[in-house]
Amino acid sequence: MNVYDSARMRDALAVHGFTETDSVAKADVVLLNTCHIREKASEKLFSELGRIAREKKKSALVVVAGCVVQADGAEILRRSQLIDIAIGPQNYHLLPELIERHNRQKGRILKADFPAESKFDFLPTPQKSAAAAFLAVQEGCDHFCSYCVVPYTRGCEYSRPSSEIIKEAKALVKAGAKEIMLLGQNVNGWHGDKGKDLGDLIRELAKLRGLKRIRYTTSYPSEMTQNLINAHQDTPKLMPYIHLPIQAGSNRVLKAMNRQYTVEQYEKIVAAFRKVRPDIAISSDFIVGFPGETEAEFEETMELVKRVGYASSYSFKFSARPGTPASLMKDQISEDVKTKRLMKLQALLLKQQKAFNESFIGKEFDVLLTEKGKERGQLLGYSPYMQGTIVKAPTKMLGEIVHVKVVAASATALKAELLKG
Ligand code: SAH
Ligand code: SF4
Repeated sequence: MNVYDSARMRDALAVHGFTETDSVAKADVVLLNTCHIREKASEKLFSELGRIAREKKKSALVVVAGCVVQADGAEILRRSQLIDIAIGPQNYHLLPELIERHNRQKGRILKADFPAESKFDFLPTPQKSAAAAFLAVQEGCDHFCSYCVVPYTRGCEYSRPSSEIIKEAKALVKAGAKEIMLLGQNVNGWHGDKGKDLGDLIRELAKLRGLKRIRYTTSYPSEMTQNLINAHQDTPKLMPYIHLPIQAGSNRVLKAMNRQYTVEQYEKIVAAFRKVRPDIAISSDFIVGFPGETEAEFEETMELVKRVGYASSYSFKFSARPGTPASLMKDQISEDVKTKRLMKLQALLLKQQKAFNESFIGKEFDVLLTEKGKERGQLLGYSPYMQGTIVKAPTKMLGEIVHVKVVAASATALKAELLKG
């Protein structure tokens, strides 16, 4: 979401004559986008500011954007004199105006309210696009998981109207996008008029001729509709990959997290996906060491992972975030125990990921080549199942979808050869 937001801020500034530079030293405005989800992400702001202070031109303006500003704007302005403007996620459309105001008045600015108007009504349509583009269709969250800051930093749930989404998708395709990843903190909660859900929106987007691949992330398990699951069967452009975070394998922990589903319900949803698309790759997020999590409850997460079988996953130690109910819960788990559990879980997830990747050796599929590889003559892209794939191919093929055969696999990537036709 932050990559997408940064691109939209770049587009908003482009209208006012700004262009992107490739180094902090050349910039007149340095824009730093931030994440507040875990303490580690939040603290990165200050190490990055140190780097910017060393590299930037003396006259350059420093803008900090994102959820850290939303949560702690006044505090970060106090802690770092380097920041000229701090802007929260719902105010990005005002960025050019705030820069202009700062240049006139020279005062430091904090803008982190939730304006009545939607930023999407004011941000310009994208003029530039990567071959694999992002498009926010939904923002905010009403779930209030007991550990999470998102409902406070991104605000309540908002679905963009489908006409606006289709207009943006057309602009992205015109600018070179072949794949679009639909984004939302709770993307499958997207709803349009006349009871339309994300499955309907995806079928509508699939009609765009230049658009070859569609993905979406992140989905909330209990908001999954059969209509969206069916889209994985009836819409070939929708890729066979679903990110479906469960967080924990114990029903008691899920309840304490205020997740609104049980392990049994989650596994039923997984089964429904596999029924319509047996080859679908499933990934998840996990939190270990939630307050009060016992060793036996952690083992339930391990068992769940063994039963489901994940293609890839993200796993984190519980991070006590200020203002969330879980940060005040008794029985906080020690850092040592969290680390031990995380290592054990990650070892299992990595083993599954490696086995999943190795099962593709000798198989063929299409890859969208999105960037240059580490070595000359190599390009990188993603398989339909979201596996990073290294392909020996000339640079001129960047941005193309090519048919390949997998020749080698590791836990983190596939190697493949170009096939003709
Ligand atoms: N809306 C998505 C998740 C968005 S946040 C969902 O509900 O699945 C991305 C991930 O960050 C979460 O899935 C969770 O695993 C992790 N996360 C969020 N808050 C956290 C916290 N306080 N400590 C550790 N991990 C956290
Ligand atoms: Fe955070 Fe996701 Fe829970 Fe919303 S559903 S509160 S974004 S973890």
